[in-house]
Amino acid sequence: MSERKTILVTGGAGYVGSHAVAELRSRGHDVVVIDNLSQGHRAAVPAEVELVVADLRDRAALDSIFARHRVDAVMHFAARSLVGESMRQPDLYLGENVEAARTLINATVAAGVRKLVASSTANLFGTPDRTPIDEETPIDPGSPYGESKYIMERMLVWAERCHGLRSACLRYFNAAGAHVDGHLGEDHDPETHLIPLVLDAAAGRRSHIEIFGADYPTPDGTCIRDYVHVTDLADAHIRVLDVLDTRSVRYNLGTGKGYSVREVIAAAERVTGRTVPVRMGARRGGDPAVLVASSARIETELGWRPRFQDLETIIATAWAWRARNPTGYGETTASTGQEAN
Ligand code: UDP
Repeated sequence: MSERKTILVTGGAGYVGSHAVAELRSRGHDVVVIDNLSQGHRAAVPAEVELVVADLRDRAALDSIFARHRVDAVMHFAARSLVGESMRQPDLYLGENVEAARTLINATVAAGVRKLVASSTANLFGTPDRTPIDEETPIDPGSPYGESKYIMERMLVWAERCHGLRSACLRYFNAAGAHVDGHLGEDHDPETHLIPLVLDAAAGRRSHIEIFGADYPTPDGTCIRDYVHVTDLADAHIRVLDVLDTRSVRYNLGTGKGYSVREVIAAAERVTGRTVPVRMGARRGGDPAVLVASSARIETELGWRPRFQDLETIIATAWAWRARNPTGYGETTASTGQEAN
C-alpha cells in the first residue's frame, strides 16, 4: 500500500461510492463520507467511518469537514444519475448536479486540497458512430445527465488552470455487480437498472423483465452494453490518486466486451438456475444501440485491468448480495428518484 491518506468521499453511502469506501478502508486509508442519503444508505457506510449527512450544495458542511480533517484527496460520486429522469427534468441535472459539483470544487480549492477524482459517464459520448469508445471519441452528451457531467469535467479543467486543482474524471460504462463478500450491493429506489431487475424477476420478486426494444441494429436486436464490476471501478479511483501528483487524467472504464440485453438475461438464468420471464416492450428514449468502452489508455498508463472480466461472474456477485439481503439495505429512503452515486 502507498502512504496512508485521508479521502473525502461524496456519495459514499451510494452504490459505487460505498464500494470505493470499502476498497479505501481495505487498503488502510482513512475516509470521511458526505451523503444526503437521498439514495444512499446509512448501513452501506462502515460504523468506524464518519458519515456527514448533508447535501453537497451546503458549503458550510463541506468547509466544516475540511476544517476538521486534513483531507489529501476528494472522491466525488454524489449525483443524480438517471438518464431517463434527466430527459424529463433537465433542471435537476443542469441545476442541482452542476451546483453540487461547483460547490464541491470551490470548497476543495479553498481548503487547499490538490486532488479530486470524479465519477463521469459514457453518456458523455451520446450516440457515437464508432466502437469501442476511447477518450478521443468526440464528446456530445446524450442527455442532461451526461451534459451535467461534461460541465463538471470542464469546471475541473479550469479549476486546474486557475487554482492548481488536479483531477481524474472516470467515465464509467455500466457499473454492475456487488462486493465479493456480499455485504454491499446495488439498492436503488426506484430500481431502473437491468441486472438488478433481471435478478428480481429470477427471484420471483417481479413478475417479469421487460426488454426495451428488440429492433436495434445488433445481432439479436437488443442493446449492447459494457458491464464493469463496481469493485474494479473503485480500484481505478484509487490507482489514479498517485498520478494526480503530476497531472490530470481522463479515462474510459469498461471491460471492452459488450453483451446484449438478451445475453444478460441468459447469463442471469445460468447463474441463478431459474427462468426469467420476459416481455417485449418499446424502446426506451435515449438508448444508443451499442456502448462498449476502450480502456486501453488506463490499462497502458496505470496497468488497470478489470479483475471481473466475465459477465456471469459479475452477475454472480450481484446474486449473492441479493440472496443475503433480499430487501437490499432494508431501509426506506426518500423516494425522490434521486441516486447518490
Ligand atoms: N433495459 C431493459 N429493460 C429494463 C432495464 C433496462 O431492456 O427493465 C435495457 C436498457 O434499455 C439498456 C440496458 O438494458 O439497453 C442497460 O440499461 P441500464 O438502465 O441498466 O443502464 P444504462 O445503459 O441506461 O446506463
